[in-house]
Amino acid sequence: MNYKEIWQTVLGELEVSLSRVNFTTWFKDTFIYSCNDNTITISVPNSFTQEWLQKKYDKQIKKIIGKIIPTIKTIEYKIISKTTPIKEITSIRKQKQEKIDKPFSYIELEPKYTFDSFIIGNSNRLAYATACAIAKTPGKKYNPFFIYGGVGLGKTHLMQAIGNEVLILNPKKKIIYTSCEEFTNEFVSSIQNKTTNKFKDKYRNIDILLVDDIQFLSGKNGTQEEFFHTFNSLHRANRQVILTADRKPQDIPEMTSRLSSRFSWGMVADIQPPDIETRKAILAKKSEERKLNLSIDIIDYISENIKSNIRELEGALNKIKTHLEIYQQAPNLDLITKILAENIDNSRFKNLNTPKIIKVVCDFFGVEKKDILSKRRNKELVYPRQIIMYLLRGELNYSYPKIGKELGGKDHTTIIHGVGKIEKLVKRDSRLQNEISLIKEKLYI
Ligand code: ADP
Ligand code: MG
Repeated sequence: MNYKEIWQTVLGELEVSLSRVNFTTWFKDTFIYSCNDNTITISVPNSFTQEWLQKKYDKQIKKIIGKIIPTIKTIEYKIISKTTPIKEITSIRKQKQEKIDKPFSYIELEPKYTFDSFIIGNSNRLAYATACAIAKTPGKKYNPFFIYGGVGLGKTHLMQAIGNEVLILNPKKKIIYTSCEEFTNEFVSSIQNKTTNKFKDKYRNIDILLVDDIQFLSGKNGTQEEFFHTFNSLHRANRQVILTADRKPQDIPEMTSRLSSRFSWGMVADIQPPDIETRKAILAKKSEERKLNLSIDIIDYISENIKSNIRELEGALNKIKTHLEIYQQAPNLDLITKILAENIDNSRFKNLNTPKIIKVVCDFFGVEKKDILSKRRNKELVYPRQIIMYLLRGELNYSYPKIGKELGGKDHTTIIHGVGKIEKLVKRDSRLQNEISLIKEKLYI
């Protein structure tokens, strides 16, 4: 097993024991960085994840890794900037790092966030065009550049793409990318440590300042004041400022108007959720990057069902990839539907569960729940029971063993038989078709 395979096995096991949100939040962008006799180093994207994995998941991870490499005693979680093989950017960055004095913490630009890997659609065209113009002549036009939009729509990507592009064109440019929270923390600790002059030097002697998620300045008066001065000093010197937020400048609550009005001085551009064509283009490109060979019907299915944002689309592809690799399966639409069952926000599933299906079917056929769950095999019971199995499978996507359990401990072969029988019948028996559609109507009201 190589690192990648080991980590994928670990992720696969963790995924089944965690909610999807937890899983993607904490394990996205993690990988095994290095491994020696008794220590494995996991690369994590930020200090939050680092702390969280150490505190909450260390035991579980150790246990799973222990099964694969018994000699491992410690697991380290380190923030190691990803060296996606964009060599150029990486080497430029190295030269640059030697020049910049880093008195405070410093967030690296992510090499994979480039213009090249950014897919353009109607939802982001203006923001993209502005970003390209700025990368060519930073500080000249559109200053500041304010990008706003919902989560996972590409604000951070686009902002960092400007930084990466500028560095390719001119490696000497001093760029700072930071999050609003990081900026705030640094500022607060510079006050505590009496190093505010150093802080000011750092932020006022650069060519480009990128601050992500500026809405978090909301209500932080002291930091707003400091940012106001930083902004003025850079702007006056024609240094480029780029900001992102989840909403328009004037809609950020508890932000002094002298700041929010400054945010609108240059160019304000929004990024909207991608339309279906863009979602397809994104899925096609990203599945190719992941060496996932997905057919058109699969791309169509995902793009029709996952609409909210691009991070969700990536999450779906990552989940598919992990699943296919662990189980060594080839993708087909049926399998993909099952893998993504949880990701797909199908509101009609929300109120449906086993008791409801049993109740509706029992009422429909005038039989008792306890008889359905019993072992009795009279015809008047077997038929509704098999319809219940069929619905649990078709509507809730339950596995055969799970259905067996839900129906009072029946063997999974009995379930396979039952589901199969109704599936076959439903194709040619119009009375059964009617019954099923009446039952479904009742299930979904
Ligand atoms: P935001 O900052 O708006 O929450 P991100 O920039 O973090 O969103 O984007 C989330 C993910 O989606 C990232 O992995 C990013 O690379 C990807 N992404 C977003 N927009 C695009 C796009 N237009 N083309 C390709 N990838 C995108
Ligand atoms: Mg972001």
